[in-house]
Amino acid sequence: MDNNHHKSDLRLGEAPDFRTLPAVHRVLAELADVDLPRPLVVQRVRRHLETLRATLPREDSPAPDLDAVVKAVRSELRAIARTRLRSVINATGIIIHTNLGRSPLAERAVQAVTDAARNYVNLEYDVGHGHRGGRGAYVERVLALLCAAEAACVVNNCAAALVLAVRHFAARPPRTHVVISRGELVQIGGGFRVPDIIEAGGATLREVGTTNKTTIDDYARAIDEHTSLILRVHRSNFFMGGFVESPDSRELARLARQKHVPFVEDLGSGALFDTAMLGGNEREPTPQRALQDGADLVTFSGDKLLGGPQAGIVVGTEHYIAALKREPFFRALRCDKLVLAALEATAELLLEENSADVPIRRMMEEPIPTLAERAGRIVAALGPDSRAEVGRATAQVGGGSLPQTAIPSVTIDLPANDPQELASRMRAASLPVISYVAGGVVKLDLRTVFPRQDAHLISAIRTALAR
Ligand SMILES: *Cc1c(COP(=O)(O)O)cnc(C)c1O
Repeated sequence: MDNNHHKSDLRLGEAPDFRTLPAVHRVLAELADVDLPRPLVVQRVRRHLETLRATLPREDSPAPDLDAVVKAVRSELRAIARTRLRSVINATGIIIHTNLGRSPLAERAVQAVTDAARNYVNLEYDVGHGHRGGRGAYVERVLALLCAAEAACVVNNCAAALVLAVRHFAARPPRTHVVISRGELVQIGGGFRVPDIIEAGGATLREVGTTNKTTIDDYARAIDEHTSLILRVHRSNFFMGGFVESPDSRELARLARQKHVPFVEDLGSGALFDTAMLGGNEREPTPQRALQDGADLVTFSGDKLLGGPQAGIVVGTEHYIAALKREPFFRALRCDKLVLAALEATAELLLEENSADVPIRRMMEEPIPTLAERAGRIVAALGPDSRAEVGRATAQVGGGSLPQTAIPSVTIDLPANDPQELASRMRAASLPVISYVAGGVVKLDLRTVFPRQDAHLISAIRTALAR
């Protein structure tokens, strides 16, 4: 069909000689070894030949031969295959690396996902009574307990949780204004901009204060008959110092109660533990604290400091949580059984204080001597010809959490004439290794590499150095 279309586009007398281009079946035969679904390979070959036909020079200059076509398509297919989801080794030292899928799951969560994936489950079924049951009832109970909240609910991510809350409170005129400090109109990660999220929720921004200073009076003056809620957004991924002021959450909560408007706090990371113990003296506010301080609802992510799957968790009063769950829009944001299974297992681990079983928690807490010992073994295995050395670095929590916390860490340092080239070769390994370059050396931070991956790491380094 496409071919006919092309032919009809050509003007008489200008038609190049199609016969000089290799036939589709011949190109396909050469690409028999490509590990991609056949229809995808066929589509790329057809498209490539069509493009060549459309741009082919006149008859007197030669068309690309079979080898050239195969080579070009093969390189395109390789690029496509690289976009397929697969495991990589995170040697960046960034623990919650958003581009690398944030939190790897605990073994118990993996088991729960596998089990739920393979079987029918009681997702919305009451096994005791033999009729329909509530989705996520158990995980909501565990999360509420973890956060010392009356109730909890779960949606696809924290952005969705915020949109849901904004839509719920701000969708009824005349109460459509969301009161928020100018210091909190931030962008967090790719594509999460607080003003856009508020507008996506159908609300109107009512900005108060300035970038660096917002007082309780600024809030008080902004609240009128249009106010639907006061929103506070945690500045996850950056910090402000110097001439900076904002009211504390208790003051805001008091004002909200006086004025009879709800107060919602978006924490983003949602640490359930005291993050000051990571050595940065930086305290990520916890959901339990935010609720204690008077927030009606608190939102946070499932795959940041909680260490679970992508999810948005809302905790707060029974009344408001029930109202959010009744929103028709909630249906569009609900999680599937796999996410709920993973979240349930992760939340149980945290409730039982088995946080060492949660990979990101373990990575954060791994002592330097343990890392140094592994690094020593890896460097010894690589041998002196590799010029590999044990180095030092600082790891980061990442995922827009704790920007000021630098966790001391241990690296494998690989000197190279062209470190970017070496880093690129390591990304080409069968299990790609993602490193970084600093001070002219390729650095592999062991804090984010699972010890079970050390053997792979060694062979990837060897292969990259040998080329
Ligand atoms: C990360 C973050 C979000 C977005 O969370 P997702 O789960 O990625 O949607 C929202 N608010 C804050 C404050 C954050 O840090």
